[in-house]
Amino acid sequence: MDTEILTTATGLMSAIKATLEVARTVLAKGKGRTAEKAAEEALGLIVELQTGILQLQEKVFGLQEENSQLRAQVRQHQKGTADRERYELRNVGQSVVVVAKENPDVYLCATCFEAGAKVYLSKLGHSFRGMGTHSCPKCRGIIGAR
Ligand SMILES: [Zn+2]
Repeated sequence: MDTEILTTATGLMSAIKATLEVARTVLAKGKGRTAEKAAEEALGLIVELQTGILQLQEKVFGLQEENSQLRAQVRQHQKGTADRERYELRNVGQSVVVVAKENPDVYLCATCFEAGAKVYLSKLGHSFRGMGTHSCPKCRGIIGAR
């Protein structure tokens, strides 16, 4: 789609270039003051068009760059969303941890997970339920089983 716009603009530039040549020929070989004046006017208009199309091309190029960056962001976001679907929140005692669905026995820090980091919790000690108290090495959060 984007290259279509650029192709159109490039085609217009070629048409204008060809028209310019015709107008120059008329100016060089045409007779009479009227023909001369018309040719000069045509040349002026064509130069204006040429400038406008060059600006259009610059804008299209800018839009292509922006579009490319946005597409990359969307891809990154979709990848992140798909990755997040591999995890779920789990209540452990009075705390909440994040676990990978395929490996629910390994706890990750829910606070850091929300901030976009996957940090494995370190076990500090055992509780009567056997779940233990954990800490996050990154945010220093303490996740207690009880
Ligand atoms: Zn943390």
